[in-house]
Amino acid sequence: MFATLSDRLTSTFKNLRTKGRLSEADIDATVREIRRALLDADVAVPVVREFTGKVRERALSSEVSGALNPAQQVVKVVNDELISVLGGEQRPLRFAKTPPTVILLAGLQGAGKTTLAGKLARHLREKGHTPLLVAADLQRPNAVTQLQVVGERAGVPVFAPHPGTQEGSDGSLTAAPGDPVAVARDGLAAARTRQHDVLIVDTAGRLGVDAEMMQQAADIRDAVDPDEILFVIDAMIGQDAVATAQAFADGVGFTGVVLSKLDGDARGGAALSVASVTGRPILFASTGEKLTDFEVFHPDRMAGRILD
Ligand code: GDP
Repeated sequence: MFATLSDRLTSTFKNLRTKGRLSEADIDATVREIRRALLDADVAVPVVREFTGKVRERALSSEVSGALNPAQQVVKVVNDELISVLGGEQRPLRFAKTPPTVILLAGLQGAGKTTLAGKLARHLREKGHTPLLVAADLQRPNAVTQLQVVGERAGVPVFAPHPGTQEGSDGSLTAAPGDPVAVARDGLAAARTRQHDVLIVDTAGRLGVDAEMMQQAADIRDAVDPDEILFVIDAMIGQDAVATAQAFADGVGFTGVVLSKLDGDARGGAALSVASVTGRPILFASTGEKLTDFEVFHPDRMAGRILD
């Protein structure tokens, strides 16, 4: 991820290295190249505009340390602004004063919620917590089983609905869809009884933004009163990322973002815009299909990787 953006920015800075002093025209030319690199990487237009405006302003003023040469000064300014776009400081997960801490996962189908649920559960278990996973995605036929598999791998129990049966008009019996709100509520009660200190609720997504799905996620939210609502976004979805994030911000609301599939080779810039556009921090990143392909998101380290 971000390889092209990284290459483009690095070569922009390389051109500056030969210059002793930077004129306003040099800075403008550099800012133009940065703008093009960001737009080509799918970073959202308003984010690019603000970013390049700040870079230009700071590069023109001589606020940066005199110990750096002109090219290094520009790199430092871009680095600082990237960190800021990515949310600034690393924001740790917020825990409830009185356990259990409730974490709700929301996002489109295929975003990587169920996989993330397992990764987060494993991460928390390794830190000494006692999480319980709740399978409240009853939309996708295999979601419950998938969470059970993930939970087993993570060594974390899963609270799942017992599949009921319903009778079709021809007398056939099929599994009843069940009520995800009730499952989430019962999962919370189970966490209290069994003294799990964290509850991670996996919810259903659709392929696109959908009013019914939003309402269901909002109903689950109201039933379990989460401490964190994490919006999981596939970094590969490109320009749609910002609109999707905004729809979830309006429909369900969220307290943090998880970028998934950062191991992909898509341009990724839209995912970079999500924190800035929604004003919500990125807490974690998912970087593969294995449970260990997971990291706490550090804006400064990500900026460093992009400018490496
Ligand atoms: P959900 O519908 O939001 O629950 O999404 P899933 O967790 O089922 O993930 C959808 C697909 O993406 C699955 O095939 C996962 O194995 C895959 N996946 C999830 N996270 C990642 C990731 O970080 N990197 C890659 N390469 N694949 C992922």
